[in-house]
Amino acid sequence: MEQFNPDVLISEDEISLRLDELAKAINQDFAGEEVVLICVLKGAFMFCSDLMKKISLPVKLEFMQLSSYGDKMSSSGNVKVMLDVTGSIKGKNVIVIEDIVDTGLTLKTLLEILKKRDPKAVKLASLLYKPARNTHPVDIDYLGFEIEDKFVIGYGLDYAGRYRELPYIGVINAGN
Ligand code: 5GP
Repeated sequence: MEQFNPDVLISEDEISLRLDELAKAINQDFAGEEVVLICVLKGAFMFCSDLMKKISLPVKLEFMQLSSYGDKMSSSGNVKVMLDVTGSIKGKNVIVIEDIVDTGLTLKTLLEILKKRDPKAVKLASLLYKPARNTHPVDIDYLGFEIEDKFVIGYGLDYAGRYRELPYIGVINAGN
């Protein structure tokens, strides 16, 4: 089986420190209110789990899954809802938790779907943002890190279903 040794792009410690800052901003923005985190599967599961532990508000958790890249390294341009939330978000403070905004197509489509459901607020938290390929601009309210146009893996993000377990964000370099 093909096995790569990824280079570390963002370490576990850097991620944890940044998540402290994001959680602090969320705690301040929604002080005294309840938030519903919508974790976008599968890539955001680790980010969502770690961020949620740092949020000191009443919090509920939902999952959504959208059609993904599959085993390819580029977007198909076609977004479908594969798994939806189980409860109503009407009148709720929703924070969508995403792993990475690349072209922005996935998130733009998802935010449009959610806004039609009449929530009180919809905010977006994304661990990563790749401006180089962004063709569908979205406002990222809580951004972890802006990165170069490289295919990243680890901390929930996969390549062909693998490497999600890495505790850091890595890059696969040809030749290692
Ligand atoms: P977008 O619709 O913004 O082009 O793509 C968003 C989705 O593409 C992300 O949620 C993620 O699943 C996938 N994706 C985009 N860039 C990368 C990357 O560098 N690494 C991995 N593993 N997935 C990516």
